[in-house]
Amino acid sequence: MTKLSSAITAKRDDLVALTQDLVRIPTLNPPGQDYRLICEYLETRLGKAGFQTELIRAFGTPGDSEKYPRWNVIARREGTRSGECVHFNSHTDVVEIGAGWTFDPFGAEISDGKIYGRGTCDMKGGLAASIIAAEAFIETHPTFAGAIEISGTADEESGGYGGVAYLAEQGYFNPARVQHVIIPEPLNKDRICLGHRGGWWAEIETKGEIAHGSMPFLGDCAVRHMGAVLGEFEDKLFPAMAARTTDMPVVPEGARQSTMNINSIHGGQKEQDDDFTGLPAHCVPDSCRIVIDRRFLAEEPLEQVRSEVTDLLEGLRASRTDFDYELTELNSVLPSMTDRDAPVVRTVARAIEDVLGKSPEYVASPGTYDQKHIDRIGKLKNCIAYGPGILELAHKPDEYIGIDDMVESAQVMGAALESLLLP
Ligand SMILES: [Zn+2]
Repeated sequence: MTKLSSAITAKRDDLVALTQDLVRIPTLNPPGQDYRLICEYLETRLGKAGFQTELIRAFGTPGDSEKYPRWNVIARREGTRSGECVHFNSHTDVVEIGAGWTFDPFGAEISDGKIYGRGTCDMKGGLAASIIAAEAFIETHPTFAGAIEISGTADEESGGYGGVAYLAEQGYFNPARVQHVIIPEPLNKDRICLGHRGGWWAEIETKGEIAHGSMPFLGDCAVRHMGAVLGEFEDKLFPAMAARTTDMPVVPEGARQSTMNINSIHGGQKEQDDDFTGLPAHCVPDSCRIVIDRRFLAEEPLEQVRSEVTDLLEGLRASRTDFDYELTELNSVLPSMTDRDAPVVRTVARAIEDVLGKSPEYVASPGTYDQKHIDRIGKLKNCIAYGPGILELAHKPDEYIGIDDMVESAQVMGAALESLLLP
């Protein structure tokens, strides 16, 4: 075992306590609470290790308000000589608790070598591992070259606009400032995540005409029009998506193709409150709406993803009597894939081999994460996700992080720092 790996092993209790402290700050998003608190905690912690820290509020981004300000922290530790900068980026927000917990979601209790709580796996365990790796590296190699940055950023779970996107717009992920980015999302300690699929979200409304339900022929039923839309999706769109293949190593396997979820459907009268005991009125619905969540591959241009849906809708407009619709785009994210030969990929791969004695698995994520902003806004292509934790536990009840996994992935991060910052 290297001197640095031993130093990280010796910090095991510190790593556990740090993770527990982070989990006990309930940074739920929505609404985005306690961001300032966790940033101040990180500022104090990293300040002690010689990092210069900056607290940055993403004024005016979605959700930012006086009650729930979007705070971010960036910490930078300069080496004694010039060199490259390695940046570890972690989001500090966690998703809602949900039902089904047997542990206190913010208790960070330890049981059987695991720490339980919301955000342990996604991704405060990864954040803690990167901090321990950096601190042990600095103590072991005080005369390192270049710089280490650690950021704690807001709102990843809601798109990252008040976090990494904002910081990238401000130039914090400019390739002149940062050369290598590692995002310690929970992708398992022996996997390197090269990127993620794209996403396109839209609302489709079909239009009709209200009339008495006893004489539907006097109106025009928007729900039947939506039925025709869904029919086209079933007959044409889903089979077309299923036939496509990708070079992206997306896990799980089911996501290694284009997918589309229909998030919601609503047509006609508003649903009544639970305490309403009356009967519905008899009306032909004049509106029906669905929200679609289309995930796409690096091989598919966004324009094609869009036109594939609008072509079907235009086809219905041409073929179906009185068919009218409106499509409102809600959001879109382009896929991101880092080259397998990129320096950060090769470095972390070698570190995994050295620490774990096995070759890494290369994967891509079915959903998006903050790499999209580092790639598209920051124009920084040398970025991966690598961190401890089991991906499938994210957002689940009784989420946990294995303590051994955190130690080992901190050793991998430390070995990567040695390759990149010790000339
Ligand atoms: Zn995450």
